[in-house]
Amino acid sequence: MPNFKNPSPPADGYRGRFAPSPTGSLHAGSLVAALGSWLDARRNHGKWLLRIEDLDTPRCISGADQEILRQLLACGLNWDEEPTWQSKHQERYKKALERLNQLQIIYPCTCSRQDIANVLEARGVMTPRNQEMVYPGTCRPHQIGTYDEVERSSAQVAWRLALPPGITMHFEDLVLGKQTQNLNREVGDFVLHRRDSVFTYQLAVVVDDAEQKITHIVRGADLLNNTARQMYLQRVLGYQTPSYLHLPLVLDEHGEKLSKQTLASAIHTENAQQALQELRKAAMHLGLRDLPDGKETTIAQWLLAATQAWDRKITSS
Ligand code: GLU
Ligand code: ZN
Repeated sequence: MPNFKNPSPPADGYRGRFAPSPTGSLHAGSLVAALGSWLDARRNHGKWLLRIEDLDTPRCISGADQEILRQLLACGLNWDEEPTWQSKHQERYKKALERLNQLQIIYPCTCSRQDIANVLEARGVMTPRNQEMVYPGTCRPHQIGTYDEVERSSAQVAWRLALPPGITMHFEDLVLGKQTQNLNREVGDFVLHRRDSVFTYQLAVVVDDAEQKITHIVRGADLLNNTARQMYLQRVLGYQTPSYLHLPLVLDEHGEKLSKQTLASAIHTENAQQALQELRKAAMHLGLRDLPDGKETTIAQWLLAATQAWDRKITSS
């Protein structure tokens, strides 16, 4: 893992978070994100919040949230403040969408994925496998006004953010260094509210990170590609931008990212020995060395040592 830059401490206290989607139990990859964000919060004597991102109901599995809570506790990854569920905060997201409507920067879109694919194909644009299609702007009106009712759910439209031309976002990832993304070219006008009336991850994560006053985001590198979009949304909504640190991904034997979609198996946390074993694997992945490996080591002792190891790793760079 590359060296870290030492982040400057936030003015009003560190607030980090872990934000799993309850689409299954924690697997080796999600434990790395949980552990990395927890260690970073503890190293900074900050708060670590738990937020269940359960807006995409077709993908959520009933009971997975409770299982994730149990697994985290079994690993000694305790949270501060009450956990929150995005499904309980629909009003917040609606307000944010209405604000963007007042700013006249959203518009309705009726394109299906196939429609978008057809337009791109006709223009000779190829989308690489595993990459999202760049929206070609088919439904974008010449002049965007305000719409009376942004939540025209019965009308089955998606709401997209209208990007002004030339939006290139630059940011410094605390692990990966300087990042640049041209949103127009690489993303296009992105969806904030889906045709099936679900607020998207992009909108909800930005609203909640601001609402919960998150100062530091530590998460898997699979989310790196979303960061520029989220920073742009923070800008237009008038929110502060937190600092970002993206952790290396855990890959399977085929070099693919471990995910619930590829049926990554759940971590074992039935007893303390198993939980410690999973934590050790996650720590190896984070590049933490010289951690206690004795049989008598308790999870609490191990986590303390891991926090110090994480601190050494960051401060030595
Ligand atoms: N809910 C997202 C996921 O499970 C993570 C959100 C985030 O950390 O920004 O992939
Ligand atoms: Zn459209």
